[in-house]
Amino acid sequence: MAGEPQADCLFCKIVAGDVPATVVHETETTLAFRDINPQAPTHVLVIPRAHYADAASLAEAEPDVAADVVTVAGRVAEQEGAGDSGYRVVFNTGAGAGQTVFHAHAHLLAGRGLNWPPG
Ligand code: C5P
Repeated sequence: MAGEPQADCLFCKIVAGDVPATVVHETETTLAFRDINPQAPTHVLVIPRAHYADAASLAEAEPDVAADVVTVAGRVAEQEGAGDSGYRVVFNTGAGAGQTVFHAHAHLLAGRGLNWPPG
């Protein structure tokens, strides 16, 4: 069923506590943890606890939770001291755009200059 945990999903295992992660923020609907392969001094992933393959699927099914993900990204950016200097929130969607984990997640990147357009 849509939103239910998937046995073969790494981020569902992190939500369940079966795979460790460095959690920096939690809400009823979301979890935020440090990326294991950081691309910036602050690199945090914000995920919905519910399983959806990508951000658009999440927003179609549970728009309030999609909004929670973006809100938490902003809160963590503030928490990390990036509120004034600026930060980037990215949803890689599809393998061609670099998505490797098919559980919706926002990348929060901050703490260095961020070029545009991204690679
Ligand atoms: O957008 P994409 O799907 O490629 O992002 C997945 C991210 O999950 C990667 O940045 C990767 O470093 C991160 N990851 C993690 N912890 C794991 C496995 C992957 O933070 N155990």
